[in-house]
Amino acid sequence: MNTNPSQLESWDKEIVWHAFTQMSEYEPLIIDQAEGCTLIDIHGKRYLDGVSSLWCNVHGHRHPKIDAAIKAQVDKVSHVTNLGSSNTTTIQLAKRLTEIAPAGLEHVFFSSDGASAVEVALKMAFQYWQQRKDSKPKKTGYLAYADAYHGDTIGSVSVSGVAQFHAMFKPLLFNVQRLPSPNRDRLPEGVTPEDACKHHLDILESVLKEKHEEIAALVIEPLVQGAAGMIMQPEGYLNGVRELTKKYDVLMICDEVAVGIGRTGKMFACEHEQVEPDLLCLGKGLTGGYLPMSATLATTELWNTFLGSYADSKTFFHGHTFGGNPLSSAAAIASFDIFEEEQTLENLQPKIARLAEHLARIADHPHVGNVRQCGMMVGIELVKDRATGEQYDWTEERGMNACKHATDNGVWVRPLGNVIVLMPPLAISLDEIDQICTTVEQAIHFATAS
Ligand SMILES: *Cc1c(COP(=O)(O)O)cnc(C)c1O
Repeated sequence: MNTNPSQLESWDKEIVWHAFTQMSEYEPLIIDQAEGCTLIDIHGKRYLDGVSSLWCNVHGHRHPKIDAAIKAQVDKVSHVTNLGSSNTTTIQLAKRLTEIAPAGLEHVFFSSDGASAVEVALKMAFQYWQQRKDSKPKKTGYLAYADAYHGDTIGSVSVSGVAQFHAMFKPLLFNVQRLPSPNRDRLPEGVTPEDACKHHLDILESVLKEKHEEIAALVIEPLVQGAAGMIMQPEGYLNGVRELTKKYDVLMICDEVAVGIGRTGKMFACEHEQVEPDLLCLGKGLTGGYLPMSATLATTELWNTFLGSYADSKTFFHGHTFGGNPLSSAAAIASFDIFEEEQTLENLQPKIARLAEHLARIADHPHVGNVRQCGMMVGIELVKDRATGEQYDWTEERGMNACKHATDNGVWVRPLGNVIVLMPPLAISLDEIDQICTTVEQAIHFATAS
């Protein structure tokens, strides 16, 4: 096999169609290996993984425990379908998930990626109202948020709201009732930070009051709207959403594909506000960020409405070929073992504090408009004019230029527009946090100098 670097680079540019990438401008960055929180490219250059290989990696790359678990599973069986059959490892993972998830989520449907986990939740919610004993056939709509991101399949795009990604496909999408983004850092005129939570809950309640009979479910990214640019919600909002959705008989779908698995400092973001959703979506970090796997957790109330004889046609006619794959399951179980053995969440607190120290300094930069952090999730927003909040024109690609500069200097990060995202693996060390933050700070100077 040809592994000549320049040959690989030209094939990578000419053959591989990269996700969310303008291929005519693509400059290959080809990783060949990794160690801990460091990626190593085909030229031997090393990069700290500042965004967890796109929000996935948890315990570092090549963790001996996860590597060993996958290898041991390969020696047993690598794939078994979960359509009408099962395997030992996937059952154990399902049990484990129900033990650690918020109360009430006692059933697990496995898929292979986050978008599918959301599709599954949307379809389960829809079907639930159709075939409940006292069915509510009019409940076919959804409530979702401006700037939400739930994945790139047509159903998940329908509930998403990132205009730049989704405008093209508008004719294909189903109609969704849209709520303004509960952005604690950008409040409408006249709304104070103290009122922000109530303000947004009042909006939700007025919509629910009028439309609840037509709404099957509300879908939300708890605490942080990730792909929107790490937009953070006012404290108490998530809990308020749970109360209102209960009051108006609307299911609550929590998409924790990004925020779940420790990223916010707790295993699940819902735990910060003691929220127990009806459906919970997990992905990205579920396998420690090693292998494709996602899960949709559901309550027994939902599960029961799908029971009956085959002829009743209450079955959930939905499945993904590799859903519940045993190799992915083995990796996920090993990852949860590591959380316990290495006390990953307990050890996170000093790291979260160290990030905050650096961010307090970076926040003073004249072209940094706003810095926000929730646990290990960080957004640093670049602005043209800090006093007026005037944004850079998106075509100037300031965020991308800053990230390229950081990458050239050994810290791999990827922006969301003009927001620089930091989301290092939970296993990152304090020294590595220092290196990421100082390199990114220099990159901000560079990208905003003229
Ligand atoms: C990444 C993401 C998804 C989509 O996951 P894929 O595995 O890319 O399909 C869905 N929801 C949220 C909140 C995400 O961050």
